[in-house]
Amino acid sequence: MSGAQAAAGAPAPAAKRRSGRPSALSLFARNQLAAFGAGLLLVILLLVLLTPLLPLPDPAATDPVNRLLRPLAEGHLLGSDHLGRDIFSRLLWGTGVSLLVGLSATSVAAIFGSTIGILAGYFGGRADTLLMRGIDMLMAFPYILLALAIVAALGPGLLNALFAIAIVNIPFFARNIRGVTLGLANREFIDAARLSGKSNVSILLTEVLPNVLPVIVITVSTTVGWMILETAGLSFLGLGAQPPAADLGSMLGEGRKLLITAPHVSVIPGVMIFLVVMSINLLGDGIRDLLDPRLKSGALARPAPFTAVDRPVSQLAAASIQDDSVLAVEDLRTQFRIGSDVYRAVDGVSFDIQPHECLGLVGESGSGKSVTALSLLGLVATPPGRIVGGRVLLQGRDLIGLDAAGLRAIRGDQVAYIFQDPLTTLHPLFSIGDQIAEAIRCHRPLSYKEAWAAAVTLLDSVRIPNAAGRAAAYPHELSGGMRQRVSIAMALANDPTLLIADEPTTALDVTVQAQVLKLLDQLRSRSGASLLFITHDFGVVSEVCHRVAVMYAGRIVEIGPTEDVLSAPAHPYTERLIACVPRLGEPGRRLEAIAGLPPAVNHLPPGCAFAERCPHAEDACRAGEISLDGLNDRHLVRCIKPRRAAS
Ligand code: ADP
Ligand code: MG
Repeated sequence: MSGAQAAAGAPAPAAKRRSGRPSALSLFARNQLAAFGAGLLLVILLLVLLTPLLPLPDPAATDPVNRLLRPLAEGHLLGSDHLGRDIFSRLLWGTGVSLLVGLSATSVAAIFGSTIGILAGYFGGRADTLLMRGIDMLMAFPYILLALAIVAALGPGLLNALFAIAIVNIPFFARNIRGVTLGLANREFIDAARLSGKSNVSILLTEVLPNVLPVIVITVSTTVGWMILETAGLSFLGLGAQPPAADLGSMLGEGRKLLITAPHVSVIPGVMIFLVVMSINLLGDGIRDLLDPRLKSGALARPAPFTAVDRPVSQLAAASIQDDSVLAVEDLRTQFRIGSDVYRAVDGVSFDIQPHECLGLVGESGSGKSVTALSLLGLVATPPGRIVGGRVLLQGRDLIGLDAAGLRAIRGDQVAYIFQDPLTTLHPLFSIGDQIAEAIRCHRPLSYKEAWAAAVTLLDSVRIPNAAGRAAAYPHELSGGMRQRVSIAMALANDPTLLIADEPTTALDVTVQAQVLKLLDQLRSRSGASLLFITHDFGVVSEVCHRVAVMYAGRIVEIGPTEDVLSAPAHPYTERLIACVPRLGEPGRRLEAIAGLPPAVNHLPPGCAFAERCPHAEDACRAGEISLDGLNDRHLVRCIKPRRAAS
């Protein structure tokens, strides 16, 4: 047994090494604009850092004889200005000064602004009022006017311009960071830290700061360019760098008077300002995309709302099949391509569902049940998901390869889903009545009032007490069982012909689970819809399903009428799954766990995927493809030595 276990566990470390998400660097490189900005900024920084080492003339040395030389003049690569100073040398030194001042101003604003924001957000109450009203006072004045007033009060000069720019940007950081901290301050992990006796300072440094740091970095990266521009603006007005020192803004200011006679004197620093600010902004946007947790989830990888289809041409002809199945799935194949690995999550699945029938889809976690259900209506995210073969015939019409509008018209109308956790599928900010009404109005031209009335009727039919009053409630005001009833009501809103319920009762406690199951079963038989019921629990299957399909490692290993499969499981895997369910009245019976782990679907062994964990496996099981054969005309099994002969 231990050998089998070790072998079954072997692919796991390989799977662990490669997480599904592309690395930060490759995501960044994928963002070509950001990479371009980073490259440009790097070149500029290198030039600036090497300036003291380059054989350049003194940027302040005047040479009135050689004034206003054009670019490419001898000894002056970019020409000279009205005092005969070398523009190239001044440009490099000036860029350095501008960058230094801009970055310093940003750092000062970030440090003070974030500190104020964190303190105000964390302590709240009077500290918050005091700090934020101070910030409001700063914000009450027009931005540039305030900067001008500060420089006027402090006197012109680069350092004073730096302070002015930093001060007027503090509110920006303070407000941003306060908002984030406010959201964190009442979270459970902060409460837990308080309860463990940590001091405020220690909580701020070890719990709050790491959580707001990405926001601070994002804010910095998107403001640096702006700050450099503002500093240049003050210098341009003569309030920043004082002669003979120069930054890009003051060079631009000096060249302004010569715009007609010697345009290069002002154009060159102008172009440099443009390049610096643009490269920083592009880089900043790239950094924001990387660090923003909402974008990190994969928005940069740009998953589409529809699964890409990549079927062999031979399957493209959608021959409409003349049988009366509500749904017929033929040889469905869905893969995830991550790096060079191909995960065969659904590998040749076929089944059908008849009118008014409930088909159970059972299997351990990770066996591919959800991916099967999501593939039916193209809901698997691409990338990495991709349907590479098979057909999904809904009343004879092939859904795979349907365009976006075609799929949208079916989703929520003819085919509706019920998911596991209603708290994540219901919108927290809309009342449940609104959400059901919206689901109805998506597919039917009803007025809001009519839709609302229909929503109340639906809530009543899923036995929400006082439905008319409860329709105005928000999801968080309901218990878990009630929320799942709401999801069921929403799924039933447009009288679907097929309901797909993906572990709808897994998040509920046992008594509520029984009620919801009973309700679902009653509603299904009343509405006449067919049901694809996904679960990992054979106990639940026996209560609601007419037939059951058992899935393992992306394939159906056994399918048949529920009584037959339960009373005479033919596949050793089904047998073990059934043995895991406790039975009433048999307190002494041992509940068998299935030893070992399901195989990773990127390295499936040849032959039966269950062989490594199967107590009856022999060499022939690992030899080659095993087909799904009939024990009788309704009960099929994928095993060379079925456990019990069909009756
Ligand atoms: P379950 O039977 O528990 O519903 P799933 O259908 O969710 O299992 O998953 C089947 C397999 O597909 C799993 O091995 C899982 O790792 C893989 N898988 C599911 N979604 C993704 C995804 N977005 N990217 C990569 N692999 C996935
Ligand atoms: Mg699942």
